[in-house]
Amino acid sequence: MKGMMQDWSLVVPSLLDHAAREHGDQVVVTRGVEGEIRRNTLRTLHARSRRVAKALDALGIREGDRVATMAWNTDRHLELWYGTMGIGAVCHTLNPRLFADQLVYIINHAEDRVLFVDASFVGVIAAIRDRLKTLERIFVLTDEANLPARVDTESGAPLEVEAYETWLASFDEDFAWKTFDEQTAAGLCYTSGTTGNPKGVLYSHRSNVLHTLAVNQTDVLGVRAVDAVMPVVPMFHANAWGLVFAVPAAGGKLVLPGAQMDGASIYALLDEEQVSITAAVPTVWMALLAYLDEHGKKLPHLRKVVIGGAACPPMMIERFERDFGVEVAHAWGMTEMSPLGTLHAPKPGRDRAALGEDIAHKCKQGRAPFTVEMKITDDEGAELPRDGETYGHLLVRGPAVAKAYFKRPESILDADGWMPTGDVATIDAQGFMQITDRSKDVIKSGGEWISSIEIENLAMGHPDVAEAAVIGIAHPKWDERPLLIVVATPGSQPTEASILAFLEGKIASWWMPDQVVVVDEIPHTATGKIQKRTLRERFAEHRLPTG
Ligand code: AMP
Repeated sequence: MKGMMQDWSLVVPSLLDHAAREHGDQVVVTRGVEGEIRRNTLRTLHARSRRVAKALDALGIREGDRVATMAWNTDRHLELWYGTMGIGAVCHTLNPRLFADQLVYIINHAEDRVLFVDASFVGVIAAIRDRLKTLERIFVLTDEANLPARVDTESGAPLEVEAYETWLASFDEDFAWKTFDEQTAAGLCYTSGTTGNPKGVLYSHRSNVLHTLAVNQTDVLGVRAVDAVMPVVPMFHANAWGLVFAVPAAGGKLVLPGAQMDGASIYALLDEEQVSITAAVPTVWMALLAYLDEHGKKLPHLRKVVIGGAACPPMMIERFERDFGVEVAHAWGMTEMSPLGTLHAPKPGRDRAALGEDIAHKCKQGRAPFTVEMKITDDEGAELPRDGETYGHLLVRGPAVAKAYFKRPESILDADGWMPTGDVATIDAQGFMQITDRSKDVIKSGGEWISSIEIENLAMGHPDVAEAAVIGIAHPKWDERPLLIVVATPGSQPTEASILAFLEGKIASWWMPDQVVVVDEIPHTATGKIQKRTLRERFAEHRLPTG
């Protein structure tokens, strides 16, 4: 027997309709790419998104066509997302930090028809324009006055671009969203694996809406209408972790930081806009903490900082919670999961006060909200116990988890419908998950696994260590042994002896790195993760003193 309830499609435009209807006066603040502050409302976002939809429709963009963006978190980028999705087209976010060859591959593979680009990235596009086969028009997200000067492509011809505002000016908002099935594709985001070509994750309207509802559960991000939320995490990095949907859905105030991610600029918005929730990768928060220390500033308005994308070092949790009174929510996810997988929030017996003292527990990546299922398995696929000790391959499933990649027919799920994440983790009896490594970064020593993340986290607690990475180096007796690579904090000269002494007693003796080397810089990927592969290549010939 079927239920007798309404067919109400889970589509993104209905989310924006709700935001404008119920929270129309709520503010959307943007620091524009030219540095100016713009204040709009959810009502104007709704209106401008419909203008974009009408303009794209007039351009001949049809359901399923790909519309690319290479842009910072701004109001214009946001209205492009909603406008594109509102006609059933696919909004394809490009990460400007990728290598030119990867961008060329991605844009051609996606068959992007039009591209909307911030002025800051016009040079990136000019350098590859001659190799982009499907692109028909390029709009710069600015007005005529701020259109960048002539930039040449590789062949020497000027890059042909148009001003976004001029294009949009000839359209009004009198436009009804197109109608389509909730399983229709809405967004596309490529994830660059360490081997092979990037793979496209194709989100649907339904998965976006369900992910939004999941994110807005109180124990997840729990956005309220009285919150001011600043996603520093870029919209091109896994949908800004869903915040650009979740905040309007809840009627909160969005604060979009544009191109400036340095400590001073982030602090200015946190303070002036009284931001209560913010989210970004650890490297952003390192810069902010350094700024706060240097200028003796506090964070009186901030309630919660969400830290994810890479393991959050314990010292960062301690500093936010102890020195600034800001609750840290450590989160884990991946592009394939829309992206939220887990977030750290208290449970009975582990309340906030107790957690404040328990930094080690807060270093866990958290627990799965409703809509995410997870488990750990051994190499043969047998499920491992949730005891907080045993580690294994982490697998997930849920309505906002990918089942295959764009234009690749093969399923990425196992026979039971679970997606292997490529991460290695423990899950404890209360369901708190902790990532110990990427499976390819695990150090295998004498048949046992050593967690590089745990050693890195501890090493970063040393006052002279700004950043740390641990990689496995081939060893004649033990297969692999850990090498600890560190970057010094400004003005300090850490020694191997003092770092090893600092780790002594904090980890099992056989986990102790065989050597510590100090380098000027640790390489990062386009989404702020330590590039272990590059480090392994750099130290490929390295010999440890122990063998
Ligand atoms: P991406 O799809 O680029 O966001 O990368 C997802 C991967 O980032 C995950 O599979 C993890 O390996 C890593 N990751 C994300 N969040 C965390 C976290 N909080 N701690 C450790 N690793 C993380």
